[in-house]
Amino acid sequence: MTDTKAPYLMTDTEKTIDISKLDQDRFRSWPYSQDVCLTCGLCSSACPVSGIDGFDPRKIIRMVSLGLEAELVEARWPWICTMCAKCAVLCPMEIDIPNVMRGIRSLRPRNEVPGILHKGVEAAIKTGNILGLPKEDFLFIVEDVAGEIAAEPGFEAFTVPIDKQGANILSTIHNKLVNTHTEDLKHLWKIFFVAGENWTITSEAWEGCNWGFFTGDDRAMKLMIDRLAEQLTRFEIKNLMWPE
Ligand code: SF4
Ligand code: SF4
Repeated sequence: MTDTKAPYLMTDTEKTIDISKLDQDRFRSWPYSQDVCLTCGLCSSACPVSGIDGFDPRKIIRMVSLGLEAELVEARWPWICTMCAKCAVLCPMEIDIPNVMRGIRSLRPRNEVPGILHKGVEAAIKTGNILGLPKEDFLFIVEDVAGEIAAEPGFEAFTVPIDKQGANILSTIHNKLVNTHTEDLKHLWKIFFVAGENWTITSEAWEGCNWGFFTGDDRAMKLMIDRLAEQLTRFEIKNLMWPE
C-alpha cells in the first residue's frame, strides 16, 4: 500500500501555529538550551518510562524547541516522567531534561495537577507530611515498629531515638513507610542499631518526600526543605539523610 502523503508537508495542526508568537525562551534550561538537541535519542534509551502512552523525553525536548508551550502544559507526558535524571546523565549536550519537565509542570494551574499530587502538597504545607498524619498517630506507628524490632533476637535493646539532641544523622521518612511499608523502616533502623550509629528521627517535619519538587511548586518545595533545616538547627544534628 502506497502512502500518498508526503512526510515533509505540515499537518493541519502545525499549519495553525503562529510561529511569530512562540516564546522560544520560556523553557530554556541553563546552561544549555534545548535547541542544541541532536535528536540522538540517548535520553529515550535511558528513560525507564519511555514508551508509556507514547512518552519519550526526546519528543518533549523537540516540542519545547518548537515553542509548543500550551500543548505541553496540557499534555499528560510531562507528568509521566519520574524525574530520575538518567536522561540528563547520558545527554551529550547536557540538556537538563528533568528541569525542563519541572518548568512545564509549574505552568499547570494547581487545580489541574494530576491525581492526588497537589492535595498531598497542600496536606504537607498544613501538617508537615503528605498524608496529613497527626503527630500522635505518627509517634504511635513509630513506637509500634520499634517494638516489633525489639521483639527480634539480638535487638532486645532497640529503641527509636526521637528528637535526639546532637545526633550525627537525621533520617527523614518517606510517608509510605509509616503507611503501607512499615517493614522497610525496620531494615534501615536495624542497620543503624547494629552499626552503633548516633541517629534520630524527628517528631515533626519528618517527611522525606517533597511533592513540591515533583509538581514544580517551588514555594512548597522550599517550605518543606526549610522545615527540615530548622530541625537540623534546633537539635544540632550534623547530617541529613534522605533514604528515598
Ligand atoms: S540525549 Fe540530549 S541531545 Fe540526545 S535526543 Fe536526548 S535531549 Fe537531545
Ligand atoms: S528524568 Fe524523566 S525523562 Fe529523564 S530518564 Fe527519568 S523519567 Fe525519563
